[in-house]
Amino acid sequence: MMNALTFDVEEYFHAEVFAGVVRREEWAGLESRVVRATQRILDVLEEGRSTAATFFVLGWVAARHPELVRMIHARGHEVACHGYSHEMITRQSSTQFAEDVVRSKKTLEDTIGAAVIGYRAPTFSVVRETLWSLEVLVEASAFDGNGSGVAHPGGGWRVFPAVSVPLHAMGDPTDQRA
Ligand SMILES: [Zn+2]
Repeated sequence: MMNALTFDVEEYFHAEVFAGVVRREEWAGLESRVVRATQRILDVLEEGRSTAATFFVLGWVAARHPELVRMIHARGHEVACHGYSHEMITRQSSTQFAEDVVRSKKTLEDTIGAAVIGYRAPTFSVVRETLWSLEVLVEASAFDGNGSGVAHPGGGWRVFPAVSVPLHAMGDPTDQRA
C-alpha cells in the first residue's frame, strides 16, 4: 500500500466555510498567512526527514507568493494544482472549468519551471454531477506549457494521479438508475 502525504496550499479565507462571509473582492486586502503556515510545514517535514509530500497549490497563491511555490519545489516536494481561485467545480461550466485548469496549471509551471501533473478539486467537488470534469482534465492534456494546444511527450497534463474523489459521494458505480 502506498502512503501519500498531501497538503492544500491556500489562505484560510479560501475555505468554502468562509464563502458566505468573505467576498472574493475582499481577498486581496486580508492578512496573508499561507507563507508562514506552509514554511512551518516544510520545516517540520525537513526535521522529520520525511519523504516527499504533494502540495496542491492555488494559482491565486502562486501569483502572489511565487517564492513560496519555488521553495516547495526546491525542497523536493511535488507541486500540484488546486485550481486558480478555489471555485468548486459544481459552480462552473465545462468551459469555465477548462479555463481555470489551464490558467492555474500554467501559472504553477511558469513559477517552478517544471511540469505539473497532479490535480485536486477545490472542496472535493468531483462528485457524481461533475464527473464530466474528468474529461475536461484529460482534454487539457492537449495543452503544452505554451498553450499552443499541441500535446507533446514530456509536457502538459499526462496523468492525473491525484484527483481526489470522495467515494462515499459517488454511490455505487454499478447502479444505473442515477
Ligand atoms: Zn482547498
